[in-house]
Amino acid sequence: MIPPEFDYVAPDTLDEALKALSEGGEDAKALAGGHSLLPLMKLRLAAPTLLVDLRKVPGLRGVQRENGQWRIGAMTRHADMQGNADLGPVGQATALIADQQVRNRGTIGGSLVHGDPASDLPTVFVACEGSLTVAGSGGTREVAAGDMFEDYLTTAVGEGAAATEIRVPTFDDWGSSYLKFTRRAEDWAMVAVCAMVKKAGDGSVEDVRIALTNMGSTPLRATAAEDALRGKGLDAIAAAAEHAAEGTDPPGDLNATPDYKRHLARVLTRRALEEAAA
Ligand SMILES: Cc1cc2nc3c(=O)[nH]c(=O)nc-3n(C[C@H](O)[C@H](O)[C@H](O)COP(=O)(O)OP(=O)(O)OC[C@H]3O[C@@H](n4cnc5c(N)ncnc54)[C@H](O)[C@@H]3O)c2cc1C
Repeated sequence: MIPPEFDYVAPDTLDEALKALSEGGEDAKALAGGHSLLPLMKLRLAAPTLLVDLRKVPGLRGVQRENGQWRIGAMTRHADMQGNADLGPVGQATALIADQQVRNRGTIGGSLVHGDPASDLPTVFVACEGSLTVAGSGGTREVAAGDMFEDYLTTAVGEGAAATEIRVPTFDDWGSSYLKFTRRAEDWAMVAVCAMVKKAGDGSVEDVRIALTNMGSTPLRATAAEDALRGKGLDAIAAAAEHAAEGTDPPGDLNATPDYKRHLARVLTRRALEEAAA
């Protein structure tokens, strides 16, 4: 449980942090809450020689509403957002991440850049079709949620860069639900579902988003279920949810077989859609 030796810096500005990250190359890692990176180092599954702590860099923490979007600083902690009804699925999912100690340290930027398909916020980010601002020595770029998760623990952020801000639409006219199935309270998700529903004036489903946690090597959109519900009445929810596991490839583990996870995805999708529509 003792990590390999590493150097540590805590720069006061974003420019200094980017310089340290770019000079360190593939051996340097940004440090946010440390709740994913440090366990990996202690297990010797990661061995960066330089940690660049972003905690003193100004302007990276906080939530603001602007032009129909939430702008969330990458260093905003789960605890800053948990249960915030204005944030829709972001507030719902952050309330279900582990325990209060983890939520007090873990950040949204760290969760997205880490790219664990069993994490909760990557799924919400995909459902919301959000975007991530990434700063590097050559300037900033926007990474759309659809381009973000390339493979297991592999994202489009890359080396020598720092995520600075997450943007998600405010979804004022939508209902949302994030449902997570765990064997024990506060565990990682065996499967979780983010569902978002926008109803038309006649009560039918004008638009719908569904995304799945831990159903493959990245968070996944359940597009077949979305297509089966869009434009239909709420009585089509149960039949649409039957399509939720199409195109998924969930890993079997000590908790569940892939088939059981597919079953969970269908059941949770139905329940989450009903909750979001209500
Ligand atoms: C006991 C335990 C239980 C947990 N349970 C859950 C759970 O149920 N659901 C869940 O979603 N998560 C869970 N987590 C993970 C937790 O949410 C982490 O905090 C989160 O995944 C990573 O955020 P962090 O701020 O700690 O990132 P760190 O661990 O500091 O960093 C993670 C990775 O992201 C990179 N990184 C971090 N910030 C940036 C940035 N701004 N720019 C570029 N790269 C960056 C780091 O270099 C590193 O590679 C759990 C963690 C623990 C310890």
